[in-house]
Amino acid sequence: MSAVFNFCAGPAMLPTQVMQKAQQEFINWNNTGCSVMELSHRSKEFMALAAQAEADLRELMHIPENYKVLFCHGGGRGQFSAIPMNLLKEGQSADYIISGSWSKAAAKEAQNYGVINTINVVEEVEGVKQVTDSATWPISSDAAYVHYCPNETVDGIEIFEIPETNGVPLVADLSSTILSRDIDISKFGLIYAGAQKNIGPSGLTIVIVDEALLGQAKLNTPSIMNYKLIADNDSMYNTPPTYAWYLAGLVFQWLKEQGGVNAITEVNQQKAQMIYQYVDSSDFYQNKIKTANRSLMNVPFWLTDEALDSKFLAQAKENGLVALKGHRSVGGMRASIYNAMPIEGVEALVNFMKAFAKENS
Ligand code: PMP
Repeated sequence: MSAVFNFCAGPAMLPTQVMQKAQQEFINWNNTGCSVMELSHRSKEFMALAAQAEADLRELMHIPENYKVLFCHGGGRGQFSAIPMNLLKEGQSADYIISGSWSKAAAKEAQNYGVINTINVVEEVEGVKQVTDSATWPISSDAAYVHYCPNETVDGIEIFEIPETNGVPLVADLSSTILSRDIDISKFGLIYAGAQKNIGPSGLTIVIVDEALLGQAKLNTPSIMNYKLIADNDSMYNTPPTYAWYLAGLVFQWLKEQGGVNAITEVNQQKAQMIYQYVDSSDFYQNKIKTANRSLMNVPFWLTDEALDSKFLAQAKENGLVALKGHRSVGGMRASIYNAMPIEGVEALVNFMKAFAKENS
């Protein structure tokens, strides 16, 4: 086991079993006498590993055959540019649903490539933040696509229902929610996720795209960001992040051993409920997000007396609970509890929160 429980929002903790397996295989993978990271991406051994990882992801997410799975570079922000370059044709506009800081950043980047309409969907009612009913979102019927972020990592706001876009391709940033709960891929034109939360280490970005959307890229799209070119070359148009791909494959196998996505969702719900229920029952801590929109993966909470923030963080660290500081834009605390966080970590956190509240009330 790791010496601490790491609540970092990303790069986040990886399952202990995965880290141990990687350690065992570090210098001699699969009897090749080399580390995975020393093999050619075009070697038959690596190609087999790559294909297995894709097959496991397809199985875990029930990805239909008419979708390509791309293993890319460039992180979530790379996709903020790649999406409009590949999907926003001349004379068209795209709609961006704004539910927090990452969807806002995606919209800002997309503005470099065309006309972007933003639609704010978070309102505050009596100090509580909530997402408006998606049926009321003014989505343009002629938009090239609609972009949204189902889980806002910084704000702790999650949109569980998939919005109806009446045929306009739906594009989703799943960076902090991929594989945490089952989603119906067929409802999306494209989904993407940086790996560093629920998939593996940073450096790898997964794109799952409906084949019908390929081949429309703007002429000046860099080749390494052109979805069709990446798809036609099985994500090996240029050297992919091979070691991250390998680790992602180990994480997919681990998740299958846990019983798959639905099984981990149950654990994720329990973990999140443990924190939210305690926060709601206490005057010492608060979370001002409507229950229906509370994130399963990133749980922000605030000490009612902010003057105690640094003491809380220092003592949490002494107790082996690290990386709980909230994002600088929102302050307070944030417990990121991705798939790899064991329930014992959340129990330890809630017990610490209770003890800290008792001592400091
Ligand atoms: N989207 C979301 C939802 C994120 O949480 C993050 C990173 N935390 C990003 C995009 C940006 O990802 P990257 O740093 O990989 O570019």
